[in-house]
Amino acid sequence: MSKYIFVTGGVVSSLGKGIAAASIGKLLEARGLKTAIIKCDPYLNVDPGTMNPYQHGEVYVTDDGAETDLDLGHYERFTNAHLSRDSSITAGRVYFSVITKERHGDYLGKTVQIIPHITDEIKERIMKVSKSNDVDVTIVEIGGTVGDIESLPFLEAIRQLRWELGEHYALNIHVTLLPYIKSAGEQKTKPTQHSVGRLREIGIIPQILMCRTERPISQEQREKIALFCNVDVEAVIEAPDVKHIYECPVVFKKEGLDELILKKLNIKLPDRGIKSWEEGVVKRLRSPAKEVTIAVVGKYISLQDAYKSIYEALVHGGIANNARVNILKIDSEDVEKSGIKKYLKDAHGVLIPGGFGSRGIEGKIAAVKYVRENNIPFFGICLGMQIATIEFARNVALLKGANSTEFDAETPNPVISLIEEQKRVKDMGASMRLGAYSCVLTKATCSFEAYKNDKISERHRHRYEFNNTFRAQLMAKGLLIAGLNPERDLVEIVEIKDHPWFVGCQFHPEFKSKPDVAHPLFKGFITAALNFGK
Ligand code: GLN
Repeated sequence: MSKYIFVTGGVVSSLGKGIAAASIGKLLEARGLKTAIIKCDPYLNVDPGTMNPYQHGEVYVTDDGAETDLDLGHYERFTNAHLSRDSSITAGRVYFSVITKERHGDYLGKTVQIIPHITDEIKERIMKVSKSNDVDVTIVEIGGTVGDIESLPFLEAIRQLRWELGEHYALNIHVTLLPYIKSAGEQKTKPTQHSVGRLREIGIIPQILMCRTERPISQEQREKIALFCNVDVEAVIEAPDVKHIYECPVVFKKEGLDELILKKLNIKLPDRGIKSWEEGVVKRLRSPAKEVTIAVVGKYISLQDAYKSIYEALVHGGIANNARVNILKIDSEDVEKSGIKKYLKDAHGVLIPGGFGSRGIEGKIAAVKYVRENNIPFFGICLGMQIATIEFARNVALLKGANSTEFDAETPNPVISLIEEQKRVKDMGASMRLGAYSCVLTKATCSFEAYKNDKISERHRHRYEFNNTFRAQLMAKGLLIAGLNPERDLVEIVEIKDHPWFVGCQFHPEFKSKPDVAHPLFKGFITAALNFGK
């Protein structure tokens, strides 16, 4: 039977609960435990797929095609936990299911209520994940901040679960903030006391506090927090700001977090350390031998979280090459105004990420033209691949006004367009080409060289596709089709001849990259960028 760790957050949002949960998973795996991780999100969207990045940040896609919260990306990067549609529980999904059951008559005769119907649905969904994956410890992160009205049903569900499972089977960890007031020169514990107090009011008593702080916590402060928050002194864990998020498991281990969790859950296992992570990831991040600058040309540049997995995957590609990756964020609308050249003075490679809608598209096309003509390593992902195709069609194959029908429904040369099944789509939720699809690679391409394998599987999230009516015409002009989905004959990767590294893929490789196992394309792209200009 699985044991459970419930992770809540207090005082403010953006405390890094997801990274805390992922780090806990990493530390427990290193102890030899099989873990599962679940993210509960209190919003009423069924999934984040219908929100824009300014609302939600990146939408992370699992192999089974679920559109989920970006915290699931942290889980996959830090751990080997198998994530699926069930790993993401939103209030929208829970309510949708309960209301559908009510209409079906499953609760016939009863009044359907938040307690017990919504809370039972949440509990069942949590338990299902641990049972179906046969795990030792299930980590459940509750989104939002304690005190929010909308997360209450989730908190009530975990309160009940803790009570039902009992000591040693369930544990509450609260991630909180110790703000430092500069003018007073003091680190404040009161917000943490209040936030733990709010939890106690609803019957949840955290046993471990992970305290985000800019400054070290003194012994005296630890004792004070322990006394007023009802936890052991050793359960006040310091969670300082770190330079690289991948340092977190190491920092928490030094604080004794894994030992403490095992003690509270009554699990006895030897400590074999996390040397490979320390040496293979953290040490390389701290003192890389080389340095490279990658320009990312997109439209959600101002938002840190919009291209989360891409930025992380670039860092992983750097780790694999023993290089620091500096990321230069360029707004494609600025490129439309003032050209790309001036931005790329210090860049060794250009990446165009995914995206939707026509804003900034011409700027991206101009950027691709420049990198193609100047032999600058280029990596186009999803929309980036479509842009590369449009650019090639317009400027090399001379197909007038070539475009995607997403941006110009009347284009005379729709090199990117909807396939039949997408034309029939009416509902916008979960109706794109989503999740893992297989791809066969063409030998003697940058992609084949990177994967060293001709059969791969990658995750998708898009509606539009390379239009096969133009395939022969574009190939005759030097476009390489480096990857094809064999089942449906869809173009998955385009490259161009006589360019050091120019790869556009219709899928999202960034979702499968890990700090200790960089995705082959990101590794290859950074290698090419390091060689640029040599
Ligand atoms: N807007 C494009 C499409 O729907 C690309 C999507 C993406 O980049 N994820 O096909």
